Amino acid sequence: MALIDSFERLHDNLRISVTDRCNIRCFYCMPEGPIPFLEREEILSFEEIERVATVAVSLGVRKLRITGGEPLVRKDLPVLVERLCRIDGVNDVGLTTNGVLLAQFAEELWAAGLRRLNVHLDTLDAERFTRITRRDDFGRVMAGLDRALELGFDVKINAVAAANLCEPDVVPLALFGRERGVEIRYIEFMPLDAQGLWKKSKVLLQDSIMEMLRKEIGELIEIPDQDPRAPATEYRFADGVGRVGFISSVSRPFCMNCNRLRLTSDGKMRYCLFAIEELDVKEILRSGGSDAELAEVIQETVRRKWIGHEIQSQKFVAPPRPMYSIGG
Ligand code: SAM
Ligand code: SF4
Repeated sequence: MALIDSFERLHDNLRISVTDRCNIRCFYCMPEGPIPFLEREEILSFEEIERVATVAVSLGVRKLRITGGEPLVRKDLPVLVERLCRIDGVNDVGLTTNGVLLAQFAEELWAAGLRRLNVHLDTLDAERFTRITRRDDFGRVMAGLDRALELGFDVKINAVAAANLCEPDVVPLALFGRERGVEIRYIEFMPLDAQGLWKKSKVLLQDSIMEMLRKEIGELIEIPDQDPRAPATEYRFADGVGRVGFISSVSRPFCMNCNRLRLTSDGKMRYCLFAIEELDVKEILRSGGSDAELAEVIQETVRRKWIGHEIQSQKFVAPPRPMYSIGG
C-alpha cells in the first residue's frame, strides 16, 4: 500500500538519523556550550533501524538517506550502510556528512555499497570554516572530499547560506565545483538552529546568490525536466561547465512536492523537518510489536502530514528540536 498523504503526495524517501552527536559545532545547527546528548540505549540499534527501513520499503519507500548529527561518529556505520543497501526494493542509498571523518571511512563506505555522498562545506577559507563550525577541521574535510572523489563517489556539496557571512564563499565554491566536477548546493539558512539565532534577514537568498554567480562566472540555465520532488532546483552554467543547486526552503518552499519522511535517532517518525509532533516507533520495536504495528505508525505519520511549513508566515512555529537532533 503506497504512502500517499491527504494532498496526494507520494512518499518514497526516508531520511534516517543515526545519532544526535557531532564532532563540529556549526552555529546554525548546534549550541556552542555543553549539549545533553541522548544516551546510548535511547538510540535505535542497527537492527532496529534496518527493521523500520524494511517496513517502510514494504510500503513503497525506495530511497534512503543516512544523516545525523554526524553519521560518521556512529560506530561501525559502514555495517549499517551495507545492511540498508541490501534491503530488497531500495534503489538509492545516500549519506550526508560533514566530511571530517570521510578520509578515514570512504573506502569502507564504498565497499559497503554506498555511491552517493552529500558533503557539507560552507567555505574554502580555513579561518571562516573555524568561525562557522567552531572547530579547525577544514583540512580534514578537504582530505575527505579528495578521497571520496578519487574513489569515484557521486559527490554533492551542501553549503548553508547565511547573510552577512557567506557572501565571500559563493563564487569560490562554485568555481571549485566547476573544477572538480561537483555540484554545489546552496541551502538557505533555516530556522532550525539550537540557539534561536535565525532571522529572515540572516538568510542569504537564492536570488542574491544567483546574481553573484551570474555576474562573476556566467549565465545560469535551469536544467530541464528535473525530478519535481527533489528538494534542489538545479542550474548549469551557460558555458557547459558545472552545475549548482538551490535548496530554498525560505524563499521558494517546495512543500507541495515533498516525498520525505524522517526517522530520528531516538526512534520517532516525523513528516517534516518543521513538524511539531512526531510518532514513536521505539516502543513498538522494544516491546515485541509487530511489523504491522510499525507500518501503521509510518502510515499514520503520512496521514498527519500538513500542507507545508509556512516559514514565511506569521503562523510559523519553530520545531522544538534543532537540526542536529532531528536529522537534516
Ligand atoms: N552532520 C552532517 C552534515 O552536516 O552534513 C549531517 C547532518 S546536518 C544536520 C545535514 C545538513 O543540514 C547539513 O548539510 C547542513 O548543510 C544542513 N543544515 C544544518 N543546519 C541548518 C540550518 N539551520 N539551515 C539550513 N541548513 C542547515
Ligand atoms: Fe554537525 Fe551537521 Fe549540525 Fe554542522 S550541520 S553541527 S556538521 S550536525
